[in-house]
Amino acid sequence: MIDCIFCKIITKEIPSDIVFEDDNVVAFMDIQPVSKGHVLVVPKNHSADFLSAEDSVIGLLMPVVKQLGLAIMQAVNAQGMNITSNIGAAASQSVFHLHFHLIPRFDKDGLQSWPHQKIEPKTRAEIAESIKKNLWNI
Ligand code: 5GP
Ligand code: ZN
Repeated sequence: MIDCIFCKIITKEIPSDIVFEDDNVVAFMDIQPVSKGHVLVVPKNHSADFLSAEDSVIGLLMPVVKQLGLAIMQAVNAQGMNITSNIGAAASQSVFHLHFHLIPRFDKDGLQSWPHQKIEPKTRAEIAESIKKNLWNI
């Protein structure tokens, strides 16, 4: 049995502010929100992250992410939203049960966005080729 905090939230061993639940998915308020209305959406079926999850799990999850995104936008009067799923410690994943962050954004909220970098066109093209080749290996 995996010792997983989100599995315990799903089974209600740990309390949380659940905003949505069906047979396959649970959504609850983040305990340390990045912004007002920050919600986490998780599949009941444990997978470590988005990329290792079964397509069937993803298929059940995404419509709920969209529906909740719309509801949160209205609930907190947000002007925008970041929807992200961190994969691996290198990407700051801290809970290894697949989850989507729904983070409402507000005009001039001061939150940082991604730092973009310059890249040589040749290097960019080589990476693009490599990605295209790898698509055939999956
Ligand atoms: P990650 O860093 O893995 O992408 O995101 C994990 C998220 O889970 C964090 O935003 C963190 O605040 C949230 N979190 C961690 N433990 C709990 C908990 O016990 N309850 C709730 N509601 N959220 C949690
Ligand atoms: Zn879990």
